[in-house]
Amino acid sequence: MELEPTIFDKIINKEIPADIVFENDCVLAFKDINPQAPVHVLFIPKLRINTINDLKDDQAQIIGELFLAARDYAKQITEDENGYRVIMNCNENGQQSVFHIHLHFMAGRQMQWPPG
Ligand code: 5GP
Repeated sequence: MELEPTIFDKIINKEIPADIVFENDCVLAFKDINPQAPVHVLFIPKLRINTINDLKDDQAQIIGELFLAARDYAKQITEDENGYRVIMNCNENGQQSVFHIHLHFMAGRQMQWPPG
């Protein structure tokens, strides 16, 4: 079944602009349009996976690639030692709004816990 494209497919295909901060064969990272921290970047796989629930056992590498890219970005912007937060939302209770998995990377301020 053909999946309805999301806004992230359009960003991957460069059909709509985004402030891209990192790209390789597997991962694209760009600034969130509605930032919740001084640094708020979304790391997404180029492969469409709707939610964490849809991950297949042989796709662990993709999740690893997202984290490695986030790790390198934190070091690049020199926020690695200060610290940062990564979040993945899933479905309604997790407040997922774009159904293409993505890692939120937030830095540049003191985070609070619990996140609400
Ligand atoms: P979710 O709510 O699914 O966890 O996160 C989706 C994120 O995508 C939100 O933080 C939202 O601000 C961001 N977003 C939605 N549309 C766009 C867009 O067109 N461009 C960019 N850069 N971010 C977007």
